Amino acid sequence: MALELMKKTIGNTVALVTAAFGLVAALAWNIAIHTIFTTFFETQIMRLHLVTRMKDPVCGMEIGDRKEFGSEHNGTAYYFCSLVCKEKFDKEPKRYADK
Ligand SMILES: [Zn+2]
Repeated sequence: MALELMKKTIGNTVALVTAAFGLVAALAWNIAIHTIFTTFFETQIMRLHLVTRMKDPVCGMEIGDRKEFGSEHNGTAYYFCSLVCKEKFDKEPKRYADK
């Protein structure tokens, strides 16, 4: 009888430990998924933020991530909506660079 009780207790303990491990594994998995998602979305949001902030300094137009008309002044890259704006900037970079 005592042996039966011991077997039952051990069985219950094993079940409990297995459940606890399962819970820990599930939590770890959740955290991993959460980390992957937040990292991914934060990158996307940051990229979006950068993209929406990019403006043609000459005409003020939002140019998104278009980089076909680019110029450089004092180590900073500037991008323009068109060749016309790029040429204006290249003639007088100081006039537009600080905007
Ligand atoms: Zn422009």
